[in-house]
Amino acid sequence: MLPDAARLRARVEQTAAEILARAGYERIATPSFEDTELFERGVGHSTDIVRKEMFTFEDKGGRSLTLRPEGTAPICRAYVEHGMQALAQPVKLAYAGPFFRHERPQAGRYRQFHQLGAEAIGSDSPLADAELIGLLAEILAELGVPGVKLHLGSLGSFEARQAYLAELKEHLRANEGELSKEVRERIDANPLRAFDSDDEGTQAVMATAPKLVERLEGEDAEHFAAVRALLDAAGVAYVIDPTLVRGLDYYTRTIFSFVCDRLGAQSEIGGGGRYDGLVEQLGGKPTPAVGWAAGIERIMLALDEEQAAPGRDVFIAVAEGGQELRARAHVLAGELRKAGFSAEIDLGGRGLKGQFKQADRVGARRVVILESEGAQLRDMSSGEQRSVDTGNLIEEITADNPVEETAGGEA
Ligand code: AMP
Repeated sequence: MLPDAARLRARVEQTAAEILARAGYERIATPSFEDTELFERGVGHSTDIVRKEMFTFEDKGGRSLTLRPEGTAPICRAYVEHGMQALAQPVKLAYAGPFFRHERPQAGRYRQFHQLGAEAIGSDSPLADAELIGLLAEILAELGVPGVKLHLGSLGSFEARQAYLAELKEHLRANEGELSKEVRERIDANPLRAFDSDDEGTQAVMATAPKLVERLEGEDAEHFAAVRALLDAAGVAYVIDPTLVRGLDYYTRTIFSFVCDRLGAQSEIGGGGRYDGLVEQLGGKPTPAVGWAAGIERIMLALDEEQAAPGRDVFIAVAEGGQELRARAHVLAGELRKAGFSAEIDLGGRGLKGQFKQADRVGARRVVILESEGAQLRDMSSGEQRSVDTGNLIEEITADNPVEETAGGEA
């Protein structure tokens, strides 16, 4: 990742981190690779991720390890392993970092990509679902991601889903001839994924398939209604999508997906849902939980921002080539940085003209020109230039541009 993209990525991560921190989601980081079995058990044997997309290798001791393809299973592993059940529930966590999937690379799909995510572990309240969905909506809105739409669905509880799955399998078998080979081979293992297929024949069969969202009963139906009511009350817009499924086995009840119409084929910007069975499956006590992950590269693609020059408060140029002036520039830059300004000097031995060009390239708002006697201060937008006393430079710069307003420039 090159610096222009890095600046945008920092803004995305910072915006998310601030919004999540304000809601009490504490940062967690898990290792880049873990035992393969964690992902097999956590993500599910029948998923594309486990069947085809993991970077798995053996270490010198013959243990099978895998570069993490997602963040939720490792976080639940940490929750169990580090006794987080004993903390006040739910434990609210946030993360960002690299993930790895062996997929065919294309725009918006990479083998190493970055996700930011949030989880609330230890609450079955619809409030947790609504809060998390609202937070991702807020992050995308705050960043200014255009054309975002929220799809919402529910898979019901694991037990309630079994009767429905039997019915769905029957429908798929009755129409087996029209299904894609891949869907046909997985009727038993993962029939829900047929909703996700981009094969035309399969899509036609799925258009008439029974839909889970329309058959929710009892507490599952109540939970889903409560999540919807909370989103309505908070003004979070969504569409109910009866064909929504997700690529990981662990979801129960609420699932959701934020899509962006600027993204072409890889249109999902982030998504998640409730995973009430996962902690138990990984060896913990039964613990309801909900969370999401969003793709940082996809957010960046959707923003499609012209990258402006990075922006600096001050560029310190020297009027003549001597070492003594350059050494003074070096000291002054250090002082300005300590005072909270972003400041650069020329490290390339340029003449004065070249230094001005460089000041322009980095988007310097003003240039200090050190002379053997005294200095000039030039405002780069107005072109105004005046003599200043070098002893008072920091005061002069602070006076016409307080640190609070300029510090750091672009995030
Ligand atoms: P998932 O963990 O599959 O639910 O994915 C969550 C989000 O991560 C997606 O909505 C995408 O934005 C992003 N994502 C997933 N896989 C990739 C990939 N191979 N390359 C880039 N982004 C990805």
